[in-house]
Amino acid sequence: MKAEVSAIIIIVLVFAASSSISAPAYIPRFGDFAILIHDVGPGYFEQLKEITALIDAYSLQNVTYLFVIPNHGGGMPLEDYPAFVAFLGRLKAEGYHVELHGYTHIGDEFDCNSTAAEEKLELGLRALKLLNVTPEYFIAPRYSLSEDALAVLLSRNITVIGEDFVYFPNGTVEPVCNREYTWYLPSPFLDYQLVSARASYAHTRGTFFLSIHPGAVNNDAGMEFLREFLGFLKAHEKRNP
Ligand SMILES: [Zn+2]
Repeated sequence: MKAEVSAIIIIVLVFAASSSISAPAYIPRFGDFAILIHDVGPGYFEQLKEITALIDAYSLQNVTYLFVIPNHGGGMPLEDYPAFVAFLGRLKAEGYHVELHGYTHIGDEFDCNSTAAEEKLELGLRALKLLNVTPEYFIAPRYSLSEDALAVLLSRNITVIGEDFVYFPNGTVEPVCNREYTWYLPSPFLDYQLVSARASYAHTRGTFFLSIHPGAVNNDAGMEFLREFLGFLKAHEKRNP
């Protein structure tokens, strides 16, 4: 009897947690789903060609956000890679969104004070000017961000996407469903990941974010997952915003 009571309590707690506290919000500007490509930089040129070819095949360019590292590792400034910049320019012209993912991506670089955050943001914004882009969104490397750095980004009218929340410049914070299924996905787990991704998307009443890392997704069953899941998303758009 006691065990049953505690089981019921646990079920109630889990239900409360999943339904009220962390129910993902529907964010109209993103619609049903958005594809977030992390770590976009010249070091992943070939892998990014493979990923974007698939996204093009499903005509999902408009819901795909490229989070660019302006100077990966401190030794790959975008301006030194004109062919890559031209590639990003073509993607932008096709409808892809070009956004910002830190500056060098070294360590927890945006877990810093306001002055350092302002400096790195300024350098990043300058690099994206090569593409005539003013980013609307920012993802911190490793989702690691100090309160001060967050305040700097929001004050510049940039919306910050975190692992579980989106932080808007007007001060609102919305919970989101942000999932990644293709971190070096071994073939034996492909079906399991597809089932769980489809269920997760179907049960999310809010906006669903699919996060992808070039390199990690280009291995093993990653691209096969993407092929199948993007096809599923394309066929199951829930609303027409
Ligand atoms: Zn990253």
